[in-house]
Amino acid sequence: MPLPLTGRDARPGGTVIRVGGVEIGGPAVVVIAGPCAVESHGQVLAIARVVKAAGAHILRGGAFKPRTSPYSFQGLKEAGLALLAQARAETGLPVVTEVMDPRQIDTVSRYADILQVGSRNMQNFPLLEEVGRTRLPVLLKRGMSATLSEYLHAAEYVLHGGNTQVILCERGIRTFEPATRNTLDLNAIPMLHRETHLPVLVDPSHGTGHAWMVPRLAAAAVAAGADGLLIEVHEDPSNARSDGEQSLAPDAFACMMHELAAVAAAVGRAWMPSEAPLEPVAL
Ligand code: PEP
Ligand code: MN
Repeated sequence: MPLPLTGRDARPGGTVIRVGGVEIGGPAVVVIAGPCAVESHGQVLAIARVVKAAGAHILRGGAFKPRTSPYSFQGLKEAGLALLAQARAETGLPVVTEVMDPRQIDTVSRYADILQVGSRNMQNFPLLEEVGRTRLPVLLKRGMSATLSEYLHAAEYVLHGGNTQVILCERGIRTFEPATRNTLDLNAIPMLHRETHLPVLVDPSHGTGHAWMVPRLAAAAVAAGADGLLIEVHEDPSNARSDGEQSLAPDAFACMMHELAAVAAAVGRAWMPSEAPLEPVAL
């Protein structure tokens, strides 16, 4: 089936998406980092400062959380969005957060710089149509059981709505292997770059489910040509309210960023960490 808007032929030179001062899909590798879920003012601000100091460009954090069980923490909702906006005001980092339902789009758009559509909603066609009507960039994660063709057609829905700013993100797919949460499909990176002009990020946090694996898979993703990474970071992973087992602690994140600079250089990508660390501020 044709992809007139998403196919590589539509823009052979590739799409660069600008958010604040950050270019996604340009020469430099972009790092989006932050907690799985926004939990409190102190938590999100502390993590925002840590990831910025280590060179991350964009802050992530879920306020509306798609949880498997209705009894799990569902996110702070609009209060969480306000905390993200506060962290942006204090650090200057643009913010990406998930929208799960068309009815949330107006609210989330008031706070976010990028709208995330999660894996579970990759083929929520009414949601894709509605984010397609906005003019905010959309970070569209790959469905956990979606083929690359289905993924690109989901992106086509957003572009068809008139929103040309779609960022793809490989986050692992379900396979027969239970040792990891998902199987990170590194094949997707060169294949998507061949088939589409849209930027391609990789999320090794959800892709593996294990924090100790994240730095190695992040390096592999950069080596395979990813335009950026999405990384879960928590200041106290063992007490995180969601996805603690796959969240990097601040020192591990800083160490990974250091190693990634060398990987980026080895494959001819620019590496431009965000500005110098902020002065520590008592929370
Ligand atoms: C997330 O990034 O917060 C998330 C829920 O990821 P995914 O949709 O890939 O499971
Ligand atoms: Mn998560």
